[in-house]
Amino acid sequence: MKLFNSLTRKKEEFKPMDPNDVKMYSCGPTVYNYFHIGNARPFIVFDVLRRYMEYRGYTVKFVQNFTDIDDKVINKANEEGVTYKDIAEKYIEEYFVDAKGLGIHPATIHPKATENIDAIIEIVSTLIEKGYAYESEGDVYFRALKFKDYGKLSKQPLEDLVAGARISVGEKKEDATDFALWKAAKPGEPYWESPWGKGRPGWHIECSAMANRYLGKTIDIHSGGVDLTFPHHENEIAQSEAANGCQFANYWLHNAFLNIDNKKMSKSLGNFFTVRDAAGVYGYEAIRFFMLSAHYRSPINYSQESLEQAKSALERLHNADNNLDFIMKNGDDAALDDAQKEILAGFDKYREKFIDAMDDDINTADAIAAIFELVRDVNTALTANGTKAFAKECKDRIHELCDVLGLIREAEEENLDAEVEAMIEKRQAARKEKNFAEADRIRDELKAMGIVLEDTPQGVKWHKA
Ligand code: AMP
Ligand code: ZN
Repeated sequence: MKLFNSLTRKKEEFKPMDPNDVKMYSCGPTVYNYFHIGNARPFIVFDVLRRYMEYRGYTVKFVQNFTDIDDKVINKANEEGVTYKDIAEKYIEEYFVDAKGLGIHPATIHPKATENIDAIIEIVSTLIEKGYAYESEGDVYFRALKFKDYGKLSKQPLEDLVAGARISVGEKKEDATDFALWKAAKPGEPYWESPWGKGRPGWHIECSAMANRYLGKTIDIHSGGVDLTFPHHENEIAQSEAANGCQFANYWLHNAFLNIDNKKMSKSLGNFFTVRDAAGVYGYEAIRFFMLSAHYRSPINYSQESLEQAKSALERLHNADNNLDFIMKNGDDAALDDAQKEILAGFDKYREKFIDAMDDDINTADAIAAIFELVRDVNTALTANGTKAFAKECKDRIHELCDVLGLIREAEEENLDAEVEAMIEKRQAARKEKNFAEADRIRDELKAMGIVLEDTPQGVKWHKA
């Protein structure tokens, strides 16, 4: 399987350090609003990468953080007259509602910046000890130019970096290229105690700290939108490699923008649609399908037309699937005959096509084309082969491929019910043993899956958020 590595600007064969423990980190949302269709692009495409790696037999540990403290979260809290925590908690819950609707599997771990302040303080302290960072009136800054590889990801010449750097009002930096690791608290702002006084972490350092804590010093894959390449990912590399003295991530993956009228969709430009609103019009699955109908490194344009198209293409898949369900219920009971077995064997070429496409830097556009070719042949074959057994085999083949892309997800729903019940039982057992930490952990994990538990005198009830 080949992946395009932004670090080397080449498609490279993917060789994880340990196939049974692939370490993947993706920068998650800043939680101060519903997420928009542009934000949904990395969440969906890297969910597909993770599913595909699992399909190919890898075990993946996937970490996606929540940035639950920053200026935008604080401003929103002030506007609404509530705490930063109220805002963060609300939009984390809303994230999971939309993510679930879009068929994005919960990450293995969803750490929050504010729950990792100790790890952040530790890495900042290390950077100060090593001379890469310095305290200045309660702020701490990183000396970007002291890190000799600075610019290696974004491939910017040092002169350009220097020329583009600015010192903002209130910053007390030695050099314009330096960036904040820790910010002294302004009056009325939330803060944490630190060796440098009351303050809060900068944005870049949280990802270095959490990747290190949950995955280790070197990870296999780091991903995010292309706008994060500079400065965010460049700074993550500088911090992590300066602190740990080894390569931070072996493969860097970046998705291209989702545009609207040829401009990046973004909260700050105000040209955005939230996933929640768009799902109300087209349905969540159409959004997912639309996103996967292009290669993740090509820009895509969001329009009513493209979403309508996605919706009707998806309908063809669902119609084929419903037809198979019907035959599986009402069709002939005869066992598979040799001619049918031969037809089914002929379908293998579509699986191969699908795998070839996905192996080529996750080419979901071609992978979807392979699924549609399979569906076309299935529809044709069914006219003369309307048996339950044959329909079941066809359905399995279509679902095997669709599951990798997270499309037509009814089977996942059934599996989910069983999984939830099993986890609730485990939680009850933990509570019986007075292992409340484990019981809480399971509750949180269920919460991350969009499942809400209710303890009633009759037992535990659950529903979807
Ligand atoms: P944010 O919450 O703004 O930090 O963004 C979360 C993720 O969405 C990051 O990986 C961004 O790079 C990505 N992102 C934001 N806007 C777009 C867009 N218009 N197209 C594609 N990715 C985007
Ligand atoms: Zn990050």
